[in-house]
Amino acid sequence: MGEVLVIGGGIIGLAIALELKQQGVAVTVLSRDFKQAAAHAAAGMLAPQAEALPPSPFLDLCLRSRALYPSWTQHLEEQTGLSTGYWACGILQPWYEAAIHGKRSAEAEAEHWLDRTAIHQHQPGLSTAVGGGYWFPLDAQVDNRALAIALWQAAQAAGIDIQEGIPATSLKTQASRVTAVITSTGEWQADHYVLAGGAWSAEVLPVPVSPQKGQMLSVQVPSGEALSLQQVLFGSEIYMVPRRDGLIVLGATSEWVGFSPGNTPMGVNTLLAAAIRLYPAIADYPIQEFWWGFRPTTPDELPLLGSSPYNNLTLATGHHRNGILLAPITARLITDWIVQGQADPLLDYFHYARFQLKDGISGL
Ligand SMILES: Cc1cc2nc3c(=O)[nH]c(=O)nc-3n(C[C@H](O)[C@H](O)[C@H](O)COP(=O)(O)OP(=O)(O)OC[C@H]3O[C@@H](n4cnc5c(N)ncnc54)[C@H](O)[C@@H]3O)c2cc1C
Repeated sequence: MGEVLVIGGGIIGLAIALELKQQGVAVTVLSRDFKQAAAHAAAGMLAPQAEALPPSPFLDLCLRSRALYPSWTQHLEEQTGLSTGYWACGILQPWYEAAIHGKRSAEAEAEHWLDRTAIHQHQPGLSTAVGGGYWFPLDAQVDNRALAIALWQAAQAAGIDIQEGIPATSLKTQASRVTAVITSTGEWQADHYVLAGGAWSAEVLPVPVSPQKGQMLSVQVPSGEALSLQQVLFGSEIYMVPRRDGLIVLGATSEWVGFSPGNTPMGVNTLLAAAIRLYPAIADYPIQEFWWGFRPTTPDELPLLGSSPYNNLTLATGHHRNGILLAPITARLITDWIVQGQADPLLDYFHYARFQLKDGISGL
């Protein structure tokens, strides 16, 4: 394989670039804005089980990625000397009494169901309205911002050419091949191209990826106070992700408002009310930060992975609310596909042809 050019330097683009480089491929990354990436906005939950994904190829993909996480982050940490904050802390999914009465039965008999007494023993400080919940000991978290920085540094140290501040505006094509990527600074050519532009991917190629906005905020456990949250809380209206340094990340809204920026009173109010209801102690914790980001979302909320209408363009986008979780498996499968031409059978389920792409490009 000759040179590969990756469009997008978020978690997916960088993870792929690094894996390709480790296979001996020369890689350039075009990155419009590192800080813009959803990689910085996310909560970092590695939560295929808490997400209650039904048995499906997508669940298989998520479970395979979760299994890769310990060694993938350990390797990154050894390469860079930086922590990624990977923490196999497990995820607790508390249920309010009223919801249990509506939904109980078979599910409640599942292996990790905790009844009222058990869940309050397991996690002191929960609302008294919590009547039970699920415990997912294999779900985990990573500090997504630290991970993005570690990936960036590892990529630079490995000799990947990262062109920060250079957006791709369109593709130059001839028949079924991409011949160049057009940018504000001219044309960039390579033997193979990867589209990993997150929520902005449709600006380069008419893929059905739209931005779904998520608002977030964080609070800090006051100094001197013991860290009472030692696992992620994944409630029905809110999730709370405690970092080891006492920061607690709260999220997230799901909004269809295009790329409109900013936190809103309604968004923040909804998150705070749900968080205080679930875990009342946080009402007095100092707020640290508000932010927002854009999930790259396809109509069926599944990613677009693998081949594209162009022979030398690979798609790696549309990871919606699980892109942090899916970074290692995406990097592995896309690299095998590009370098060895090996398509893992799972890739079939995430092929672009399940959608009618706009502007006739599917007709190539
Ligand atoms: C609020 C929120 C919470 C989330 N929580 C979780 C979570 O807990 N767990 C989880 O697994 N996932 C979570 N996600 C989802 C996850 O963040 C995304 O799926 C993931 O970041 C997508 O990675 P990406 O690299 O495709 O896109 P991004 O991380 O958004 O990166 C895309 C990058 O490409 C660049 N780019 C775009 N277009 C171009 C172009 N034309 N030229 C050059 N560069 C370009 C952008 O500037 C950006 O830097 C969350 C997302 C949000 C918004």
